[in-house]
Amino acid sequence: MAADTAPRQRKVRILATLGPSSANPEMIGKLYRAGADAFRLNMSHGKHEDLEVAIAAIRALERDVRRPMTILADLQGPKLRVGQFADGLVQLEPGSAFIVDRDETPGDRSRVTLPHPEVFEAIETGARLLLDDGKIVLRVTAAGAERIETIVEVGGPLSNNKGLNVPDVIVPMAALTDKDRADLTFALDNGVDWIALSFVQKPEDVAEARQLIQGRAALLAKIEKPSAVRRIDEILETADAVMVARGDLGVELPPEDVPPLQKQIVEKARMLGRPVVVATQMLESMIRSPTPTRAEVSDVATAVYDGADAIMLSAESAAGDWPEEAVRMMDKIATAVEADPSHWARVHFTETKPDATSADALAEASNGIAQTVSASAIICFTTSGSTARRVSRERPSVPLLVLTPKLKTARRLGLLWGAHSVHTRDVANFEEMVAKSKRMALRAQIAKGGDRVIVMAGVPFGTPGSTNVLHIVRLLGDELERHTEDEIERDD
Ligand code: PGA
Ligand code: MN
Repeated sequence: MAADTAPRQRKVRILATLGPSSANPEMIGKLYRAGADAFRLNMSHGKHEDLEVAIAAIRALERDVRRPMTILADLQGPKLRVGQFADGLVQLEPGSAFIVDRDETPGDRSRVTLPHPEVFEAIETGARLLLDDGKIVLRVTAAGAERIETIVEVGGPLSNNKGLNVPDVIVPMAALTDKDRADLTFALDNGVDWIALSFVQKPEDVAEARQLIQGRAALLAKIEKPSAVRRIDEILETADAVMVARGDLGVELPPEDVPPLQKQIVEKARMLGRPVVVATQMLESMIRSPTPTRAEVSDVATAVYDGADAIMLSAESAAGDWPEEAVRMMDKIATAVEADPSHWARVHFTETKPDATSADALAEASNGIAQTVSASAIICFTTSGSTARRVSRERPSVPLLVLTPKLKTARRLGLLWGAHSVHTRDVANFEEMVAKSKRMALRAQIAKGGDRVIVMAGVPFGTPGSTNVLHIVRLLGDELERHTEDEIERDD
């Protein structure tokens, strides 16, 4: 397969969850070509050997198209689940009594087991138990250490291992379960780029995970608990990225609270330069239908207008009938929004103030200079990726080409708004920096002879450190002729 050298036209990134519908080499390739920039492995489902196959397929695609691929492993976290039923499924009738207990025998229409002692410790009379994403509501009438008696307020079918949310009390759960720890080891051993932490309640949860990860992957905190919303500022400081995990957030909180929170979390994350992913039910009806509802299209568009770094597909790409179509639809919606002349102003409604550092000052300036001199692109040389994050935070309208000698960095940047990263040899001096910028700009087809590009780098070259150079490079009229095709092609 030919190398993909030109960046995608779209700035917002698409994160596609892999699952039974898509975790095979052929479909992974199709999703990438349809527009997926990063892949999510949901550790709640899927056996390690299947996930290993998916990871190998993504890395094979990476070699094929010679583009860094981003893999995010999403840990299940302390998600509560009820046990199993003798018949696999029961129908709960409104007004009837239902018991949740610690008896491990399979459940029936009067009771079910709950394998989480913490809930029995914390629950109170009058609190709600929400089952299956809040579809079923139970009200606690008597709380005990061995059994919780409830009345069914909202009934419906309840099957094995359905999720349980207890929004009215704080359940004293550890940030990572034993399963999470095993999954984390597996994910890190298989070289994933990001770890997502579910049901974060406090910044200490993020710090605990970071301690275990030891820099081997970047860390994304999923915001899906009211307690995390309350401490969002500290969580943003501690995590490398966040996700507005609207599925569980909309169960734990009234659904009408979610849109304002989405706006607030996206804005706060952008101000700090932390990538932010908007997730869940974005094209939900496409699980079964080849076309989305108009409301879903609007919802995706809203996240793009908000300037989120990435938008996510869950079951649509993991377990639906139309995984490729869902990615393509998301790509089309995002492309249409970004072509709207008002997109720029709407995205820049969030004012991101630079920190008082030279790197931030230059990153901010790069966007202004790009407009003033009508530069065609911003190119940054980076080792850790921090310069790229600072420039991306400015949401520049021109392409952002990120050149890094670290494959890890190139891969991690796949969640970053507008960043097209290339893994390539470092430069040793100023002349090399200029020459390489020109060649790479030509190769990525983001500039042509006569154009100007803005180049950012750190001096001294070859040592990781903060950006302190901003240089405007002009490509000569016959720049393309000065480089052999071979030279442009092979510049790795
Ligand atoms: P999940 O997280 O898909 O792992 O539940 C996302 C969400 O809750 O929105
Ligand atoms: Mn969730």
